[in-house]
Amino acid sequence: MKTKLSKELAGPVKINRGGVRLNHQKINTLPEKVAILSPNKVRIPLQMHLGAECKPTVKVREQVKVGQLIADSEELISSPIHASISGIVKSIQIADENNSGSGTTIIEIESDGKMTPYENLTVPQINSKEDFLREVRKSGLVGLGGAGFPTSVKLTIDDVKVDTLIANGAECEPYIAVDDYKMRFYQEDILDAMLATMKWIGISHGIIAIEDNKMEAANLLLEKINHEPQKYADINIVIMNSVYPKGAEKLVIYNATGRTVPRGKLPKDIGCIVMNTTSLAELGKYLRTGMPLVDKLVTVDGSAVSNPQNVNVPIGSLISDLLTFVGLKDRPDLVMMGGPMMGIALSSLENPVVKQNNAIIAMLKNEFQLTNESACIRCAKCVDVCPMRLQPTNLVRAIKKNQIDKAKDDGLLNCIGCGSCDYICPAKIPLAQYLLLGKSKLGNNSSI
Ligand code: SF4
Ligand code: SF4
Repeated sequence: MKTKLSKELAGPVKINRGGVRLNHQKINTLPEKVAILSPNKVRIPLQMHLGAECKPTVKVREQVKVGQLIADSEELISSPIHASISGIVKSIQIADENNSGSGTTIIEIESDGKMTPYENLTVPQINSKEDFLREVRKSGLVGLGGAGFPTSVKLTIDDVKVDTLIANGAECEPYIAVDDYKMRFYQEDILDAMLATMKWIGISHGIIAIEDNKMEAANLLLEKINHEPQKYADINIVIMNSVYPKGAEKLVIYNATGRTVPRGKLPKDIGCIVMNTTSLAELGKYLRTGMPLVDKLVTVDGSAVSNPQNVNVPIGSLISDLLTFVGLKDRPDLVMMGGPMMGIALSSLENPVVKQNNAIIAMLKNEFQLTNESACIRCAKCVDVCPMRLQPTNLVRAIKKNQIDKAKDDGLLNCIGCGSCDYICPAKIPLAQYLLLGKSKLGNNSSI
């Protein structure tokens, strides 16, 4: 129902700073097509977030139920962890899931097949900013767009004034269709989580930023806003043209508000907080039910997958169980956690699905290229596509010569690791990998 207060979609905003056009190959999932994985066991790592690893709050052989706290930390930058299935704690052991040499404690739970919810969960009662931040922490929510930063920490902004909450619905990586699904079928959770965040944190405006290849989602959200125009008066929708990596936090802010995050600063320093739309949907669900983050919608796709689909997966489910569940045409030659541009190639299918995991892409040889790097031909294509206006070829030259301080001075820490330079490079130089190596030499893998 449209009223005098009816809003329109703003845009499409076509501010492009580099970037590449990709074939998105996304599935269009319907609610009835979302399958639910019911594993026999889960292996839940106690380090799924940026910050301090949690410590177990349960013991081996203890009975646990869905949503029950199983690990927590007293450190500020951390996020509690909850049982994703009901059953018995079989083991609590340190494992090196990523072959990184640094072990993470894993709680293994054997299912009792009942998925019994924990009886002490209650719908949050919120009367103050402190209540809200405490409940956000209790929800176990972290940035679900891939960053894994604890949401309660992100929303603790006493030092600066933030006026705009941006719901990031760009989802610009190929294949991944999780945010799109949440925006098409969980509008109320997303919008109500935005309203609660704006109210308790003191943010006056909300903007939902969506790429123009997800117009069904944008129109459904707009319809919901226009159905209750008074309630959602401070929330607007901005459409952006789809050029990868439009979903990167700094680019979303620029497209939605025209503001630029200066080098070395954070979004809050220019008055913005960005939350992924799936994170908001999960926050809305928590505020409505009291059930913390225990499962995750994951897009399972790629040429090796028989039946590409979104699957609702208890956190800690094994990727091998998930791939068996969706069915494989053949043994995959490459399995990635995350999308093909920024995802991580998995060394073991016994790794678990973690909170911020939004896709498993299983590919056959014909879908990806393993080519040898050749000499740079100085074509400057990598410079043209870099959305952060860096000179990837010069940065990589400095890193190869171990001139890390020079690379830092030239903006290495401003690289968002999007891989656009890799994608475009005719010499097949793995520029993004070199840049990641350079950042790790600086002892900092994050983009600033
Ligand atoms: S240098 Fe970094 S930010 Fe620029 S295109 Fe390459 S990976 Fe993306
Ligand atoms: S795109 Fe590749 S070949 Fe061209 S300048 Fe950059 S690194 Fe060199």
